[in-house]
Amino acid sequence: MNPGAGEAPRAAAVAVDIAAAATDRLYDYWIPSEWIGRLQPGWRVRVPFGRGRREGFVVELRAEPSLPPERVRPIAEVLDPMPALTPEALELARWCARAYGSTLVQALRVMLPAGLRGDRVRPRTEELLAATPALLSGKWAQGAGGVRAPARRRVAELLRRSPGPWRRRDLERAAGVGAATLRAMVRAGLLAVERRERERAAWTEPPEPDRRPVLNPFQEEAVAEIRRAVEASAHAVFLLQGVTGSGKTEVYLRALEAVLAAGRQAIVLVPEIALTPQTVARFRARFGDRVAVFHSGLGEGERYDAWWRVRRGEAAVVVGARSAVFAPCQRLGLIVVDEEQEASYKQEETPRYHARSVALERARRAGCPVLLGSATPALESLAEAEQGRYRRLRLPQRVGGRPLPLAEAVDMRRELAEGNRSLFSRALAEALDEVLARREQAVLFLNRRGFHTFVLCRECGHVLRCPQCAVSLAYHADQGLLRCHYCGWAERPPARCPACGGSALGYHGSGTQRVEEELARRWPAARVLRMDADSTARKGAHEAIYRRFLRGEADVLVGTQMVAKGWDVGGVTLVGIVNADTALNLPDFRAAERTFQLLTQAAGRAGRGGRPGRVLVQSYAPEHYAIQAALRMDPDAFARVELPIRRELGYPPYRRLVRLLALAPSPAEAERAARLAAEELARRRPAGARLVGPSEAPLGRLKGQSRWHLLLGGERVGPLRDAALAAAARAGRELPAARLVVDVDPVSLL
Ligand code: ADP
Ligand code: ZN
Repeated sequence: MNPGAGEAPRAAAVAVDIAAAATDRLYDYWIPSEWIGRLQPGWRVRVPFGRGRREGFVVELRAEPSLPPERVRPIAEVLDPMPALTPEALELARWCARAYGSTLVQALRVMLPAGLRGDRVRPRTEELLAATPALLSGKWAQGAGGVRAPARRRVAELLRRSPGPWRRRDLERAAGVGAATLRAMVRAGLLAVERRERERAAWTEPPEPDRRPVLNPFQEEAVAEIRRAVEASAHAVFLLQGVTGSGKTEVYLRALEAVLAAGRQAIVLVPEIALTPQTVARFRARFGDRVAVFHSGLGEGERYDAWWRVRRGEAAVVVGARSAVFAPCQRLGLIVVDEEQEASYKQEETPRYHARSVALERARRAGCPVLLGSATPALESLAEAEQGRYRRLRLPQRVGGRPLPLAEAVDMRRELAEGNRSLFSRALAEALDEVLARREQAVLFLNRRGFHTFVLCRECGHVLRCPQCAVSLAYHADQGLLRCHYCGWAERPPARCPACGGSALGYHGSGTQRVEEELARRWPAARVLRMDADSTARKGAHEAIYRRFLRGEADVLVGTQMVAKGWDVGGVTLVGIVNADTALNLPDFRAAERTFQLLTQAAGRAGRGGRPGRVLVQSYAPEHYAIQAALRMDPDAFARVELPIRRELGYPPYRRLVRLLALAPSPAEAERAARLAAEELARRRPAGARLVGPSEAPLGRLKGQSRWHLLLGGERVGPLRDAALAAAARAGRELPAARLVVDVDPVSLL
């Protein structure tokens, strides 16, 4: 509808924030008369809805409502001092909803800080005092009040020299007066009260001093290329491929300098687990208060303030995890995605977006470059670079001429054949002896916490599993409990096998606790720290363990994935990978890729200080190409083997995938829902699409729900997605007990 010339629109189409995911429509409301001509799309509003009130977003303005006027009600309240969303943000939300098959409201929700919804957080204001013209004129002092009040004179004197505005408390102290004097002066019209928003500071300490190293030639070249794109405001995608410790972060910092110099804003995405105080400190050291951090560890109030600081353009560099890709930057000049291969960039609930894909789309729309950085890029990104669509920048050496660690595989089959039943191969044991003798540090890396300490009956082969999730239960020796790592189920280990009644239950695996026990037995003098999901359940525990290890309070750190990422401990000269094979055997087409990435990252922790590092990878399949490529820390070597396999099997990056997951209380219902969806898909089959399944998902039961799934593969994702959404809708209608989830470009297939 086209508003008539000169006639400002009188109605607004509002996306109402209601829980029901099924409704994806806009509702029309009258714009209150005082807001006609001022209200814009993107503004948050409160509107009457049914018998209550709801929040919503103005999405469009209309000359006239699309309903009969008598059925249209007015907007009850316009929220916030400015529209929370820019027109670009609204467009991005529309794209996100369409691309990932969510409603517009669901997409809008992820863009805003949680505290904004339901007005849970309000701006915090403070009162400031300033001199009025009456005070400065000095006339008051001639009256009776002036003679009697030397305190007022002191305030007047002070404000003539430094007019403020002042905080009450500061003014009291500086002028040496009491609160009553100031109150009286306000009443007498000598002081004016101003209300101002006060920010909840995200940090209390001043930034650390900045170290700005001289770039090496590789860094120079990378920075120059990105700088050119930033200055030209040109969309381009750079893939910065640099071994661990090659100075990638310094390249980001220089690129950000160029963005700020151009008067623009930038977003730096970091995996949640790497968003540590050390990471943030580096950005703050360089950019001070122009940095805003979006972190789930912040309080709601802090996040709210940080968000508005960016929205108002006061902060220029946003550092944050996945959802920071939606940060409200208006003059976007660059998006950096660090560790771009990280699975945590994919949101595993609606909207199931991938932050890297959103970054690429957002930057394309904004006409700004994207910088993807990694030591182990995703195969999707490597393939784009191979085909020349991304510009590859390489940092092939560690900074300061530090050597890469020497990595070797240890064949655990031979250990077993030669009678060594320990978790430690002889090579790893000897290396550990040496490290301890030299008073250096070692990291022992396991693929999963407790995952492998499962209980197996040696008579019938039965494995104890979670009744809710069907995954094997892990034994936790310190609690004497079997625990499910998906839903938290806990039980005491039975004395006899529940399947055959036999008494030969055995504890198998190499959880972090078992490694700890064996360490304590064989190296009683070694000081050991453990880092896994159990030891870091408390907030800040991860950080505390890292600090202790950094200070040299332990000789050996035993841990899971968590210790593989982003750590920089100079004293570490040995990294031992205890069970390299666990990840290789997961039922997921990316198992080899994940294993390669994990091993390379873990190995990268060695030898970051001055002393050379050594990496030992224990495996029952040391000849596997993922392990071989990880030993050489060579993503290109890995890709050369893996890419043809992906092409052959029709997996990404050659095909796009859409996964349809059916969840239901019983296995039969989940299966029926999946089969119904499959039938519908067969009928709609988009040209060239391949349908895999339906089958039970590898995690057949999770959190009390049975899970079946099917996969659609094809060249173009749009038709796959639309067919899957239609099939899901039909199956959901016919089987209300089932919930159907469509996942575009799935990352987890478990
Ligand atoms: P990456 O992100 O590739 O692992 P970082 O950027 O963290 O590497 O760099 C590792 C360390 O080397 C950091 O302490 C960083 O300050 C330092 N560094 C980076 N570039 C240089 C350089 N050109 N000269 C000296 N030190 C550097
Ligand atoms: Zn469970």
